[in-house]
Amino acid sequence: MSLWHPSRRALLGGLPALGLGSAFGISPATAQPGGTLIRLRLLETSDLHMFVADHDYYRDRPDLTVGLCRVAALLEAARAEADNALLFDNGDIIQGNPLGDLAARPGELGAGAVHPVFRAMNLLGYDAATVGNHEFNYGLDFLERALGGARFPFVCANVTRADGGAFLPPSLVLQRRLRASDGTMHDLRIGVVGFVTPQIMVWDRTHLEGRLLAQDIVDAAAAVLPGLRAQCDVVIGLCHSGISAAPRSNGFENAGLHLAGVPGFDAIFTGHSHRVFPGPDYTSGRGIDAVAGTLAGVPAVMPGFWGSHLGVIDLELRRDGGRWAVTGHAAAPRPIYRREAGRVVPLVTPRAEIVEEIRGAHEATRAWVSQPVGRIGQPVSSHFALAGDNAVMDFINAAQLWYAKPLLAGTPHEGLPMLSAAAPFKAGFTPDAFVDLAAGPIAIRDIAEVYLYPNTVAAVRVSGATLLEWLEKSAGVFNRLDPLVAGPQALIDRRVPSYNFDVISGLSWTLDLTRPARYGVSGVPLGEGHRVRDLRYGGQPVDPAAWFIVVTNNYRADGGGGFPGLDGSNVVLRAPDPNRDAMIRFIESRAQTDVAPLSRWNLSAPGVTASFETAPEVTAAPAWLKARRTGTSEAGFARFLIEL
Ligand code: MN
Ligand code: MG
Repeated sequence: MSLWHPSRRALLGGLPALGLGSAFGISPATAQPGGTLIRLRLLETSDLHMFVADHDYYRDRPDLTVGLCRVAALLEAARAEADNALLFDNGDIIQGNPLGDLAARPGELGAGAVHPVFRAMNLLGYDAATVGNHEFNYGLDFLERALGGARFPFVCANVTRADGGAFLPPSLVLQRRLRASDGTMHDLRIGVVGFVTPQIMVWDRTHLEGRLLAQDIVDAAAAVLPGLRAQCDVVIGLCHSGISAAPRSNGFENAGLHLAGVPGFDAIFTGHSHRVFPGPDYTSGRGIDAVAGTLAGVPAVMPGFWGSHLGVIDLELRRDGGRWAVTGHAAAPRPIYRREAGRVVPLVTPRAEIVEEIRGAHEATRAWVSQPVGRIGQPVSSHFALAGDNAVMDFINAAQLWYAKPLLAGTPHEGLPMLSAAAPFKAGFTPDAFVDLAAGPIAIRDIAEVYLYPNTVAAVRVSGATLLEWLEKSAGVFNRLDPLVAGPQALIDRRVPSYNFDVISGLSWTLDLTRPARYGVSGVPLGEGHRVRDLRYGGQPVDPAAWFIVVTNNYRADGGGGFPGLDGSNVVLRAPDPNRDAMIRFIESRAQTDVAPLSRWNLSAPGVTASFETAPEVTAAPAWLKARRTGTSEAGFARFLIEL
């Protein structure tokens, strides 16, 4: 059970503000005024990404670390403990695994049919939800058809239609009869307002340009909050956005903390970053209390991803002169499992009726992803994708080049050198998150594992100078290594997602990791130095003034990941097909797909011993790496030492 914290708002008699610190040593008992007491529990799921069942569709086996069916058990317990409970979802619902991909295929979701995820969620009695950025991945028409099946309302205050009309209601007021601690019943008005990362206009520009407009989260909140606050006893923010203490800029992606600074919130749900708050994923300070679970003094929670946690915020409300005020709060994520010495220990028994509700779609997905579409001649594994030349990126790049070449034939770009960029999407976010395919038959499930996201193929026209910066930005995934340090140094900066580590075909280069990164996580330039050395195309140094075509995906081409020179302005191809479908067709077009090296890159930090983490089942590194396994990490990764 988490600790109760007296509400800053009640204590200060004013609204939360940034930078006040969180050192309240006052016990709730002495801080609270008298009067009728209502305990209101607010529950959150976020970033479910179609994980209804506790099943890994790629490996076709149970996964005890995911699933709404498992969160449902926590939900039942959390409701049983509470006098009053409301349930919310914070977005990223309809995309994320093959169940979602199959549901979104043409003809699958018929008119009037209920999308499988909403069949399941409708069983659980959600009070309201907001949309996440991934809701837009399959286009607006599909999203609106899917939302039509949800028996609970959606709100979103920072997205409108391009003509200024409403997309979703910005907010709503739930009228709820709540039970006080003395058994009396009271009617309260609970305001709910939703937000999504405005980056949807970049990441899904192909689908949304000319149809929707997204506004800065904090600006949208500042416009909506005063009116909502005036008519409500409690106001809750559903913020599909993460938490960052960095200074706010227009369109700030991870705006949870800054949102909490807008006067008027009693609780804020966060998500999007797939992390857990409060807890060790975050550092306290600058308005973030990662122990108590507050942002700018407002109670907040983030419940991991794929159903790993249920977010719980408890509010203590007292009536003070006819008005209800929050006088205490507690926030805690509740996990469905824990790891002991790297092993998963489930903490709940899944609710079978949740999976039963979508049994048809679940089995259809298992069958669909099992269909073999061809053969690969070599194994494809991401175990060492962040340590040197890797078949995952070669595989994707070969398919992208094969797909895009005919589409650019006959255009003014036909004569330019055509390259391709790809990242290892599944390369160690958790110990289970790796690609590991043997040579032989390959099924849709295997391709979906290599190409995790429903991006569409795009191509950009860039200079040799931009190619260099592209690789410099990618190189930010590595820590700076110091040759003067004797002990092992971690190779990977785990704050940088592996999907932002692009490798470009047709090129060769060396990364000097004794140099600092040239770009930060979000693309901010950090310095003048370079890590990329000896960049060559066809054996010759790359001419900064020469022009190239690079095949990639819509996310990257439109600015996703903050790569220098990529902002949607130099896109020369916006293909209608997902990169994954391009891969399927590529494999289907030949008897056997041979995955050959398409780029050459290596890491340089002479004299440094780097530590590297990979999947627990890996016992040996590839022969070209001077590496040996030294044990298993706390989190369950295999630990290797690499001599650079
Ligand atoms: Mn998400
Ligand atoms: Mg998201």
